[in-house]
Amino acid sequence: MNSQKTVLIVEDEKNIVDILRFNLQREGYQTCEAYDGEDGLSAAVSSKPDLILLDVMLPKMNGFDVCRRLREQGDNVPVIILTAREEEADKVLGLEIGADDYITKPFSMRELIARVGANIRRTAMTPPAASAAAASAMPVSGDLSINTDSHQVFRAGKAIDLTQREYELLTFLASHPNKVYSRIDLMEQVWNYGYVGDDVRTVDVTVRRLREKIEVDPANPVYILTRRGAGYYFAV
Ligand code: CA
Repeated sequence: MNSQKTVLIVEDEKNIVDILRFNLQREGYQTCEAYDGEDGLSAAVSSKPDLILLDVMLPKMNGFDVCRRLREQGDNVPVIILTAREEEADKVLGLEIGADDYITKPFSMRELIARVGANIRRTAMTPPAASAAAASAMPVSGDLSINTDSHQVFRAGKAIDLTQREYELLTFLASHPNKVYSRIDLMEQVWNYGYVGDDVRTVDVTVRRLREKIEVDPANPVYILTRRGAGYYFAV
């Protein structure tokens, strides 16, 4: 393992913070904590974590607003939202505002650690200047190109801001052009989940968000297409 990764825990319930800190540190992560949304936002900026575990119901600023603010600032740190049980709307909203993943409380620590690991896989790197990165990016289809060294995506030479999960979904599909993957396939291949259940909707939401960013007309996509009843594929 290379340098130690830092996880920021934003959660107002101290006993949950304690158990998260204990288990994450035992797995080799550094941790820092914030107990309300405002502190969470400033800690995300000041401590540059590799991943954020973000509770929804927080004093001062809720988790969705924290996540939204981070994305507005161009911060693409992986964010896992911690939602209360049965709040289905929370899950979808969390993904729509740019979270990478969500975990329903009460969660199993084993599952949480696995999700943290899966979401933190991309190694930290400093992206080079956009112009240089665009020049060395591989064209994948039409105007779209991907620089897999800098993890940047360009359309017509212009950088597109993607979350880690959106980037991984795009590169996975683009590296297997015209091959159709079911949502379950994608959960396993891109999200690294052994257990899927109802979470396949995560794939739909992420595809929609990705289309909104990479397609000229998201309602009539040309890159990521739907094969009805079968799944998604990257068209070339
Ligand atoms: Ca809370």
